[in-house]
Amino acid sequence: MNGLMMDYQLTIDRILEHANRMFPTKTVKTMLPDGSMHVYTYADAYKRIKRLSKALVGLGVEIGDRVGTFAWNNYQHLELYYAIPGAGAVCHTLNIRLSADQLAYIINHAEDKVVFIDGTLLKLYEQAAPLVQSVQHYVLFNAPRDVATTLQNVVFYEDLIDGSDEDFAWLSTDEKMAMAMCYTSGTTGDPKGALYAHRSMFLHTLGSNQAGALAISEKDVVLPVVPQFHAMAWGTPYSCMAGGARMVMPGPHLQAQPLARMIEEERVTVAAGVPTIWTGLYHELKNNPRDISSIRAMVVGGSAMPRALTKAYESELGVNVVHAWGMTEMSPLGTVCNLQAHHEALPLEEQWDVKATQGYPILGVEMRIVGEEGEELPWDGQQMGELQVRGPWIISQYFKRPIDESYMTTDGWFRTGDVSKVSPDGYMQITDRTKDLVKSGGEWISSVDLENAIMAHPKVMEAAVIAIPDARWAERPLAAVKPAPGVEELTEAEIIEFIRDDFAKFWLPDKVIVVADIPKTSTGKFDKKVLRAQYAAGELQ
Ligand code: AMP
Repeated sequence: MNGLMMDYQLTIDRILEHANRMFPTKTVKTMLPDGSMHVYTYADAYKRIKRLSKALVGLGVEIGDRVGTFAWNNYQHLELYYAIPGAGAVCHTLNIRLSADQLAYIINHAEDKVVFIDGTLLKLYEQAAPLVQSVQHYVLFNAPRDVATTLQNVVFYEDLIDGSDEDFAWLSTDEKMAMAMCYTSGTTGDPKGALYAHRSMFLHTLGSNQAGALAISEKDVVLPVVPQFHAMAWGTPYSCMAGGARMVMPGPHLQAQPLARMIEEERVTVAAGVPTIWTGLYHELKNNPRDISSIRAMVVGGSAMPRALTKAYESELGVNVVHAWGMTEMSPLGTVCNLQAHHEALPLEEQWDVKATQGYPILGVEMRIVGEEGEELPWDGQQMGELQVRGPWIISQYFKRPIDESYMTTDGWFRTGDVSKVSPDGYMQITDRTKDLVKSGGEWISSVDLENAIMAHPKVMEAAVIAIPDARWAERPLAAVKPAPGVEELTEAEIIEFIRDDFAKFWLPDKVIVVADIPKTSTGKFDKKVLRAQYAAGELQ
């Protein structure tokens, strides 16, 4: 129809141009490998990004080519988040915690043409390099000139920038162009690639910054602890520049001590990370108190935030915890748990019950829960079903894989593989991954509910519940429990006693096993596949 609005392309370079125009003096601080701080402004970043984009074209990168990044959260990685899409190519973030085999598989599958490597990770990358076929150039940063390497065709990042200039027009001219990709952690089968478009990431940025979501603004100081190789650091490199926030990048310093220091010294207002990070930080702060009350939103996702930890942060440290849920396939943001007006008069304990849920879908994401016969279930806070989603920043297909019903319904909803229930006011609560549910005597038991209850015990640091085979009931729950620092004795009886009143008797774990550590996936989730294998091999006794 005539007379409609402009056909304005929603490309990522628009965010960068806006940041440079509106917030040129805002800073990005990075903790470098040696612990010192690198500081520069958005205006500095802008110039370097332009130069880098141009240099990529000079290296032979063409529209649609995949360019890998193997790096911590730092200013160079931030630059790559814009420079690669600005050159019309696809920024493929590589998970540094994968095995050499998995890493090579992903690079070959994506056909990465160039890979940028953080010098602190060079040795790690070199283990995979002999298996990699597609890469034509490696670009190194945070590495001395005389660094010894087995890699071929190596250039230095700063040389690329120095040898280039800012006279460059962005090549991202169409919002439908691909701009980034990330493979899922792949706990089952081969890792699968989610390919993001300029348009989807632009809309995700607006979605993430809407009121009621993360709403990152010029008043914020943001610390993305969530790695840039995990689901695009939850979009923070884009939402920060869009909002004009100051950024603090932790580099390789993800231990509780430096994080506490950065939060206190930089007066961080938004910090984002997985529960393991915040568990570690909490125990660190118990021993070495610091003032982290500048945080207005401690954003936590990736796995369920234990209710007890939310309560501890809020009641003891004055920190507002914002639980969020998402997936690599969703760019990643799906739901955010901010309290609404009708929660405010509730007693604190009930508010923490709400905060234990993963929250409500943000505008741009639709969700539904579906029962075993494919029927849509009501939002009554009781019934559990498979969570399905749709929206403009959710994949329609995995990269180079056929669409099939294991992940897309015939009516166009993405099957998350999560099982959840939804309250009448739209707050969604994950009860399990489909494959992690415990089915005992025909009844479902939620491992996440049990974990939440066990982790409220003051002597417990982490707990993971898995199903173990049982002759009579088919499956029974087993809890693996890691004691809190300094705890010398922790018994099964103590744990069972602690949670007995919260559950029906048949929910109580048959076994509680105290372990030194709970295995984790490359993105910090409890690795239940490994736990189940340990149990099968008789190692969990
Ligand atoms: P990933 O793509 O690696 O981020 O993994 C996505 C999966 O992580 C989801 O499908 C959930 O199973 C899990 N997940 C993410 N956020 C949460 C959360 N807040 N609570 C529970 N599980 C979560």
